[in-house]
Amino acid sequence: MVTPFVDGWDFVQTLGEGAYGEVKLAVNRSTQEAVAVKVINLTKSKGAADSVRKEVCIHRMLTNQRVIQFYGQRKEPNVQFLFLEYASGGELFDRIEPDQGMPQRQAHNYFLQLISGVEYLHKKGVTHRDLKPENLLLDEHDNLKISDFGLATVFRHQGKERLLGKCCGTPPYVAPEVLKKKEYHAEPSDLWSCGVILVAMLAGELPWDEPSYDCKEFCNWLDKRVELTPWVKIDTIVLALLKKMLSEVPSRRYTITQIKNDRWYCKTFKRKGFSRLPSSSPPGSFKRVCTGTDLSPSSANREETPGKYSSSQPSICGGLGTSTIDSSSVEDLIYGVSFSQPVHLDDMLLGSQLPCTPGNSQTPFQKLVKRMTRFFTKYSVEESIHSLLEVLEKLGYQAKQTSAGQLTITTQDKRRNPLTFKATLVDMDGNVLVDFRLSKGDGLEFKRKFVKIKGKLASIICKGPVQLQR
Ligand code: AMP
Repeated sequence: MVTPFVDGWDFVQTLGEGAYGEVKLAVNRSTQEAVAVKVINLTKSKGAADSVRKEVCIHRMLTNQRVIQFYGQRKEPNVQFLFLEYASGGELFDRIEPDQGMPQRQAHNYFLQLISGVEYLHKKGVTHRDLKPENLLLDEHDNLKISDFGLATVFRHQGKERLLGKCCGTPPYVAPEVLKKKEYHAEPSDLWSCGVILVAMLAGELPWDEPSYDCKEFCNWLDKRVELTPWVKIDTIVLALLKKMLSEVPSRRYTITQIKNDRWYCKTFKRKGFSRLPSSSPPGSFKRVCTGTDLSPSSANREETPGKYSSSQPSICGGLGTSTIDSSSVEDLIYGVSFSQPVHLDDMLLGSQLPCTPGNSQTPFQKLVKRMTRFFTKYSVEESIHSLLEVLEKLGYQAKQTSAGQLTITTQDKRRNPLTFKATLVDMDGNVLVDFRLSKGDGLEFKRKFVKIKGKLASIICKGPVQLQR
């Protein structure tokens, strides 16, 4: 694993895993600025280098408050680092209560921000093609930011639109025309995904596995069976908007202008503090699906980003000036030549159960991402690992200690697809944090397994928030 880093910056936590590597949190030791670093292993697959080049070409063009800012990149022989604005609020996905969703006014607020971000992308001629709650991140003020441009492409260049043909995305969020393997318009297909995200936020479940005639739930929607779940949970005024956004025929689907004139969209909700899910609330049966993939039968990529945007040199994106991050120190991070081995266990982890202070006064511990799939135990790391291994064996999961304080767990989901996740155990002032992270497979199944494991470990888990003396 890559550990060397620029002097003065520490990798303090792994934030998540993507298709080609991990996303880590780097914190500047003296200023405590935080930057997300996407570490891409270029040897992982043949297409990795091309795919990252395209992601960078597109992401660096974008500077908007609704889009995770791209700061720059650094290339090493087999690894590429992308430096990104850090979103400490985690994924939108974690704000969705399984089977319940979230309060309507909160969903309304996120939806308006989402549409504003998508409008910006479309104005720039860019389509995201994998919009889903896992790719919508939140900053410390609950501002939504669109992330992961790994499947994005340019659909309009110098005022000329081109049709797309590549079948890609994540099946429950993908528009029906994308699955049909014919040419399709970019904008309506992104807006379809926004409609599915709105259902997820309001109902806490996804409406179908994929929008094809083989899928009963999708056929029920086409038959207007709104007495069924999830529609029955959704207010009629929002349902009216969803009917227009999830119209099977792309040309009849609402455009951004029409969405912005919709009654629910224009509704004013009384401003109240948005309630966050408590970090201890059990994640349950909401569907989180696998990472978006290229769904085309062949890997041949029919769409290429116009060569104009090609980039091979490290660069700092123009947005730095508007960021709260001090650009000179981020430049050190990107161009830095002095390396150290700075990762100390004491400097690692945590956050979901810590009080959060906004702005630069946050300590590295407070900057860490909020996640629901973690808990604290009352025992030592060794004892906690022992109890965890016992539970995993009883449940029939395979567990391997992959490094000190880390277990890799493999099992199968209900469709017999492989499911891999990691449990990292870190001693934090006498309490042990057990942090679960999905590596591969369906997120719904991962959350279900997490709930099972947590239930079986109830006797050793600390109840309520844990205060750490830091
Ligand atoms: P990606 O490779 O972009 O799909 O990222 C994988 C995961 O890493 C995401 O689902 C997030 O949980 C986390 N992540 C990615 N980018 C950031 C960021 N800028 N700030 C915080 N977390 C991030």
